[in-house]
Amino acid sequence: MDIKANISKIKSTLPENVKLIAVSKFHPAETIREAYDAGQRIFGENRVQELTAKQPVLPEDVEWHFIGTLQTNKVRQIAPFVSMIQSVDSLKLMQEINRQAEQCGRTIRILIEVHIAGEDSKHGFSAGECRALFAGDVPAQFAGIQVCGLMGMATFTDDTEQVRREFGTLRNIFEEIKSMPATDRTVFTELSMGMSDDYRTAVEEGSTMVRIGTGIFGVRQY
Ligand SMILES: *Cc1c(COP(=O)(O)O)cnc(C)c1O
Repeated sequence: MDIKANISKIKSTLPENVKLIAVSKFHPAETIREAYDAGQRIFGENRVQELTAKQPVLPEDVEWHFIGTLQTNKVRQIAPFVSMIQSVDSLKLMQEINRQAEQCGRTIRILIEVHIAGEDSKHGFSAGECRALFAGDVPAQFAGIQVCGLMGMATFTDDTEQVRREFGTLRNIFEEIKSMPATDRTVFTELSMGMSDDYRTAVEEGSTMVRIGTGIFGVRQY
């Protein structure tokens, strides 16, 4: 894999306001280093154990985004350094991130994960739960976290129109929350959607962060 070429090819297709998250899960630190040397700074990981092993051996200015299922009892391990937790799928998890952030004297940026796919297997708040969360002004009650936006995953399907509809749904919820009086629009700015196979559609539908693994690093060896 020519990681550097892959990154520049993807970047050349992204509008300037769209951030590239290089999803490095299952790839060793040396591989991440190659991407780092090509100028990439934001990396996404989905397992705490893997992230805490990689973080100390890579440069300090790497921004680590957590993008997987996060158990509350593991938040403590990543709280001191994580740049953003994109996969916040329960109030309980929000409370724990807030608590651990305060323990380390930081504010942790998070995204609320919203379930937009047809499949049951995807995590996240339903659209209704997400609206209720913001309408109740819940995020503002946590001093240790900054709610920076929403994250979602479309159905794994070749049906581009279905994927487009799902991303469109998420964008509408995002716009709706952004326009609520209590929302701090200087903070609530990110809409994380799009992976290797569907990021072009996601960008067309208003994504500000694409999370790309395979398209940069090749197929993962599990
Ligand atoms: C693995 C993963 C990605 C990247 O998937 P690719 O298809 O390899 O680009 C993006 N987002 C999440 C939440 C993931 O778990």
